[in-house]
Parts: sequence; structure tokens; C-alpha cells
Amino acid sequence: HAKAGGRANFQFFRQTMNERLVQRQSLEDTLRNALKKRQFILHYQPKIDLENGAITGAEALVRWNHPERGLISPALFVPVAEECGLMQQIGQWVLREACRQMQNWQNAGLDVGRVAVNISTPEFRSRNFVNDVRDALAETGMAAEYLEIELKEAALMADLEHAQSRLSELKELGVNIAIDDFGTGHSSLRQLKRFPIDSLKIDRSFVQCMTKDPADAAIVSAVISMGKSLNYRVVAEGVETREQHLFLQANLCDESQGHHFSRPLNAEGFTALMTRNPSHSAELH
Ligand code: C2E
Ligand code: MG
Ligand code: MG
Ligand code: MG
Repeated sequence: HAKAGGRANFQFFRQTMNERLVQRQSLEDTLRNALKKRQFILHYQPKIDLENGAITGAEALVRWNHPERGLISPALFVPVAEECGLMQQIGQWVLREACRQMQNWQNAGLDVGRVAVNISTPEFRSRNFVNDVRDALAETGMAAEYLEIELKEAALMADLEHAQSRLSELKELGVNIAIDDFGTGHSSLRQLKRFPIDSLKIDRSFVQCMTKDPADAAIVSAVISMGKSLNYRVVAEGVETREQHLFLQANLCDESQGHHFSRPLNAEGFTALMTRNPSHSAELH
């Protein structure tokens, strides 16, 4: 019986594996096709200075503009693209597009501050990553100081030696480095302090509970003081309410980002926001 059961299980396993492979294959083809047909677009979400309300930068967030299904969230396709090795290519497009858009804003006299680009672990680990960044800057003519790379803790902790040298190369180019979703990964503070990091983004799971849960409040204010004493800029993500905004101000957090100030906007919407609010121009710093 055991043997028969084993065989049946094996058959079942093989069948589902095949289905998965087929599914994955077609997803991969679809994503590849989307890239070819230029179906990806970027939205931009502002970050603001908590002291004076000025816009300090824009985070580029990719969306798949599917002809039938409309905008598809990166949470749905980025993991698939990472798994099938397509994220490097999509990431190259994201980098170029973000730099190109930033250059447009600068040419139009709009001071957006910095543009931040999310980089997933396989992109960061790909051999060409630093060259891709260099190429994107060279091709668009954008100065490196206006680019920020957002990395999750996992991307850095997977291979410390590798991360250390990659980060040094990026810093040599003049690019800024942010740790995204800080507090949710497994980074060791011993390692973190060795990395040339410019800012820490406190994960929104802490931010969203901090005005209700004293433990989250304690974590957020401790991360703010730690980050600031290590000379990082500290950014809170996922700020949705005035209460959260005030808490962060009272705790001397540097910057905030979230629906409270603005949702991610398409390039046109972001331009309109900058033009409507000239007082948000980063010149005011
Ligand atoms: P992330 O980098 O942590 O980006 C923040 C996410 O939180 C964005 O979701 C943003 O729309 C959302 N958000 C911003 N403010 C609020 C708020 O006040 N409340 C709530 N509930 N959410 C808020 P999005 O655009 O769906 O992106 C999800 C994740 O997908 C990103 O998390 C990032 O890890 C990844 N991602 C997005 N674009 C790219 C990309 O171009 N390349 C790579 N590798 N990953 C990307
Ligand atoms: Mg991010
Ligand atoms: Mg984040
Ligand atoms: Mg997050």
C-alpha cells in the first residue's frame, strides 16, 4: 500500500510540478512580452521634510499597465519576475526611466530632490548591477547625487562581503543608499554600521501601530534616535494620519512618506503636485 501510495503521490507531484512549470513559463513569457511592449510604468510618491514640509524626493514605484486588467501591483509580479530572472531587465528599465523622468523635471526647473529606486535582492546581486547604474546615469545625464537606491535588509545580509564592495562602488559613483522596510529583516547592527548608508526607512508596520501600541511607539522612537546618532536620515514610511505625522515630528524624525501627504502619482500627477505647491520646492531647504 505504502508503495502504491508513494507512486500515486509521485504522479500527483509530477503533475502539479508540470502545471506549475507551465504556469510559470507562461507568466514569464507574459512578463517578457510586457517588457517588450513597454507596458510597465512608474508612479512617484513624494517624501517630505518633517521640519518644513518641503518635498525631499520621489520614490519610483513600478506598475504593470495591463491592456485588459489595468494597473497591476508590483507585489503581484515583482516576486515572479525575481524568481524567473526577469527582474534584472525590468530593474534596468526602472532605473533608466526614473533617471530620465528626474532629468525632465530638472530641465523643467522643478526641484524634486532625489529620485529613489527600489532594488530587489537578485538585481543587487547580479554581476552587472553597478554597471547598470552607471549606464543609466550616463545615458540620461542625471547626476549620481540625485539618485537613491533602496535596498531591503535581506539584500545586504545575504552576502556581507559582496554587499560591502557593491555599496562602496555605488558610493564611489556618488549614489545615495537607503535601507528599506527597516526593522523587518534580520540585519545585524554590527554589520549595518559598517555599511555606507545614508538613510533608514522605518517599515510601515511599526508606523501604522505606533500611535496605538506603546511597544511600536518605543521601537519607532528608538530607531529614530539610533539612526540619527549614526548620522542616517530617518524616514518613516506608510504615514497615513495626522496623528502619526505629529508623533514623528515630536520624535524628531527627519522625513515622512505616505498617504497622509500623497499617494504615489503618475509622472503627470507628480508634476502637477510640484507646480501647484511651489512652496514645496526643495529650494526652501
Ligand atoms: P516599498 O518599497 O516599501 O514601497 C512602499 C509601498 O507602500 C508602495 O506599495 C506604496 O504604494 C505603499 N504605500 C505608500 N504609502 C502608504 C500608506 O500610507 N499606506 C499604505 N498602506 N501603503 C503605502 P507598492 O507600490 O505596491 O509597492 C510594493 C513593493 O513592491 C515596494 O515596497 C517594493 O518593495 C516593491 N517595488 C515597487 N516598485 C519596485 C521596483 O521598481 N523594483 C523593485 N525591485 N521593487 C519594487
Ligand atoms: Mg521602497
Ligand atoms: Mg519600504
Ligand atoms: Mg514597506
